[in-house]
Amino acid sequence: MNTAIPSLSPHPALPTPEQIRRAPKVLLHDHLDGGLRPGTIVDLARDCGYTALPETDPGRLGAWFREAADSGSLERYLETFAHTCAVMQTREGLVRVAAECAEDLAADGVVYAEVRYAPEQHLEGGLSLEQVVEAVNEGFRHGERRARQAGNRIRVGALLTAMRHAARSQEIAELANRYRDLGVVGFDIAGAEAGYPPTRHLDAFEYLKRENNHFTIHAGEAFGLPSIWQALQWCGADRLGHGVRIIDDIQVAPGEGGAVKLGRLASYVRDKRVPLEMCPTSNLQTGAAASYREHPIGLLRSLHFRVTVNTDNRLMSGTSMSREFEHLVEAFGYTLDDMQWFTVNAMKSAFIPFDERLAMINEVIKPGYAELKAEWLFGPGSAVPPVARDSAATRE
Ligand SMILES: [Zn+2]
Repeated sequence: MNTAIPSLSPHPALPTPEQIRRAPKVLLHDHLDGGLRPGTIVDLARDCGYTALPETDPGRLGAWFREAADSGSLERYLETFAHTCAVMQTREGLVRVAAECAEDLAADGVVYAEVRYAPEQHLEGGLSLEQVVEAVNEGFRHGERRARQAGNRIRVGALLTAMRHAARSQEIAELANRYRDLGVVGFDIAGAEAGYPPTRHLDAFEYLKRENNHFTIHAGEAFGLPSIWQALQWCGADRLGHGVRIIDDIQVAPGEGGAVKLGRLASYVRDKRVPLEMCPTSNLQTGAAASYREHPIGLLRSLHFRVTVNTDNRLMSGTSMSREFEHLVEAFGYTLDDMQWFTVNAMKSAFIPFDERLAMINEVIKPGYAELKAEWLFGPGSAVPPVARDSAATRE
């Protein structure tokens, strides 16, 4: 006898924007040079004598960044990073940008974040690679303290990025290893995928593996399955930055409830629980997806891939973790259970030690969602019910 029992959701309404903001969130893929406050760019440009900004009014400058990223022109998109990097060449500038990053994420309800940047892009003012890393770490610690004073708790770890088109990946990998346990939690490579396969940087990845260190690779955003395959099977990436093109290895028969067939690579990604750092709005801007509703995250979530939700570049995409979830709630009808599932997925996939990840899940994330879910019963501010250790939202 196979009688299907309809599942009863204990909190039937879709989460409101206010609940989404208060819900604990975990962010694994966010670029430091893609998340500056427009007003800070204007201030820092004035301080360092940078005169090439397209606008000097913070409101108009913010709009310019979003329009340039939306334009579909790669040159204009890259120009946005030329401006943000130009004002991140001094110790003071880096400390301020990193501190505000931590504060902004905390105010948005992010409780744990791994924020990445390429130290090699911040040397024009005479800083050494080590000074860049120390300035950013100092900024994150400032930001964590200021967030705490404002009543928000966040922990931020840094990922050091090497640029795919450059030849410094070994040096940056060694830097990531040297600052491990000192604010840096892992390594990444970023930049144009086409023409710059991750295997160009094999030495750096093999070095990190010998050092038992962690790394993620931007792969499968624009370039497709070969890039994902190389990142996993040649380079040994722990996570995939984006990874949306894994959808190319999944066949869905037409019609409602059509049969799904996974190719070998997609099966491997799902079987090995490889975390996918998905960034919906960014993918829409680069053309990797046509709309939120058509974004592969919907299918991948229903197939139980280890999917996570991320921002990529908050300034260029005019987004935040809350905005990303608002879009997904609207497109797919996701509930607080779904949000918790994505958040626990992300925390499980973080690069900090296992016991700390577990503590974040059990002591911060589950109680936070339990409180939100209880509100419809008792009204806002109601007591937190006991947390079920094996609730549906935490099962894979
Ligand atoms: Zn990215």
